[in-house]
Amino acid sequence: MTHVGVRPPGTRPDKRDFDTLSESTWSVHGGNHGDESTGAIRAPIVMANSYRLPADPSAIEDPGFGGLVYTREHGANQRGLEEKLARLDHGEAAAVFGTGMAALHAAFFTILNPGDHVIVSNVVYSRVAGLFDSIFPAKLGIEVDFVDVTDLDAVRAAVRMRTRLVHAEVIANPDLRVADVAALAQIAHDAGALLSIDSTFTPPPMMRPLDHGADVVVHSLTKYYNGHGDAMGGVVIGRRDFVEDVRTGAMWHAGGAISPFNAWLIMRGSTTLPLRLQRQCESAQAVAEFLEADRRVVHVSYPGLLGHDEHDLARTQLATGFGGVVSCALGGTHEDRLRFVNDLRVITSAVSLGHDETLVAYEQYPDGRAAAFAQPFRECGLIRLAIGLEASEDLVADLDASLTTAYGPAC
Ligand SMILES: *Cc1c(COP(=O)(O)O)cnc(C)c1O
Repeated sequence: MTHVGVRPPGTRPDKRDFDTLSESTWSVHGGNHGDESTGAIRAPIVMANSYRLPADPSAIEDPGFGGLVYTREHGANQRGLEEKLARLDHGEAAAVFGTGMAALHAAFFTILNPGDHVIVSNVVYSRVAGLFDSIFPAKLGIEVDFVDVTDLDAVRAAVRMRTRLVHAEVIANPDLRVADVAALAQIAHDAGALLSIDSTFTPPPMMRPLDHGADVVVHSLTKYYNGHGDAMGGVVIGRRDFVEDVRTGAMWHAGGAISPFNAWLIMRGSTTLPLRLQRQCESAQAVAEFLEADRRVVHVSYPGLLGHDEHDLARTQLATGFGGVVSCALGGTHEDRLRFVNDLRVITSAVSLGHDETLVAYEQYPDGRAAAFAQPFRECGLIRLAIGLEASEDLVADLDASLTTAYGPAC
């Protein structure tokens, strides 16, 4: 694997040679090739759906052909973004898609065959749960066990002859339990299976699942990577041969390509990812500590709190903080919780996360999905705060004021 940030002693950093750059420098320069024809120092948006063919078009069949042909299969902005993202996650190669779900689907579609068995975390992004709950079993004959991945004995016990894949999120959406990636990789590999990790909540430099033994990493680029709430995308990162299979199978034949404009927006957003993430982690910690200390709040889940079940694991596994999402449960009635959410004046009620602005999503989950959650989330629903870049004092003051509107003063 190629690693960023391991500059040999005595060499100088050079943005044309990623081996010489530290991580945050690569976040700025990676994959940006400028424009030869105009001299522009930023890669332009190439809004073309096809590229000039070589004099002998049969040359494109040559495995060594490095050119671009058709934008569903590869485009200039996509290529720059893939180069940047692969190296940020310490992967050999990356394939970018139009959404996180397109990327997840492409990874699963590439790995799984009819009759295969999959172990999926019992708390995962809702659409991933939907794929494994009904769509893959019905259409592809895939067998699935949803398992609490924080219980490694339960994961081991779920392994079968035909187990082909274990899938989990580092920090799970929405209850924020933390998976031990190295331990899951061990179990998967002992079973002859692969481990795919959805690292959307833990982008680099927080975590690089490939370094912990995962075989495949997927991100929804819609979230932290883009970071500004205006573009959607997804990426699959892993070994070169696997990513080639993803590209020539799922991407070529099922589509799901990202638009050049969205690839460009995500490229631009990703430049500031390390800085944004640092701020979001700091503010999330402050918000989580405020909520934990407030008697009007029934339950708080945040991996940075000492009381979080996997806090010690999170400390050793995550490099630079505990993420930008805080989940909590509020008591009273459904109407009290709606009054709290609708009274907020800085924080916006909307799904998604990793944006520049703080978002709140209050959801009551159907019994089946909620069964895995801690009791307060089952009883009161779950309020997910996706912390943005505002001053944390303003966020805390906004939460405090709306708690007062819904429940009265703190003391
Ligand atoms: C949002 C999200 C996805 C899906 O990504 P889209 O870009 O919305 O398709 C997948 N996994 C996690 C953990 C997410 O938060």
